[in-house]
Amino acid sequence: MTQSLSQRVVQGAIGLVVGLKSTLRTMFEPKITVIYPIQKLNISNRWHGLLALPIDPETDNDKCIICFQCERVCPDRCIHIEATGKGKERLLTRFDIEMDKCCYCGLCVEVCPTEAIVFVPHYEASTFNRANLLYDLDDLHRGTPKEPIATGVVKVKRPAPKRQTAAPREGTVIP
Ligand code: SF4
Ligand code: SF4
Repeated sequence: MTQSLSQRVVQGAIGLVVGLKSTLRTMFEPKITVIYPIQKLNISNRWHGLLALPIDPETDNDKCIICFQCERVCPDRCIHIEATGKGKERLLTRFDIEMDKCCYCGLCVEVCPTEAIVFVPHYEASTFNRANLLYDLDDLHRGTPKEPIATGVVKVKRPAPKRQTAAPREGTVIP
């Protein structure tokens, strides 16, 4: 049975009102988008951002015991460690991570027995120079992008999450 013109007009009007109701409700809800890079969200400590070897304030050195487990477990073979000496005399001479190869799987962080290698909540590591994506020991101690792309930005508080999330893993984050 075909609808009359008046029925179609009424149905169209109802659809319009339902759509506008949705638009009006959304207009007054808190905004969850930000104007990046002018505004930025505070990133969770559990974010898989850059990798770092934070300095342990107690020893004034990193916590790496040169076990090579992270190098062995890395599926992308982007961690390169070299050391000299034996036993307690062993000294880290090279700890490089090729961040351009890293897939941020987190296996190196999980396998590390001393929590020496951690993720830090920095994500702006893009660069026009591929060489800047090779992070050596000094870069990893700093734990910040080698070439920050945006500075002097406004930090925006993320709206409180509606559901409970797991407690963040304990680890030192370099500001
Ligand atoms: S996060 Fe994964 S890919 Fe990246 S360095 Fe660690 S183990 Fe390798
Ligand atoms: S797994 Fe941890 S302690 Fe072992 S070499 Fe890697 S960073 Fe160092």
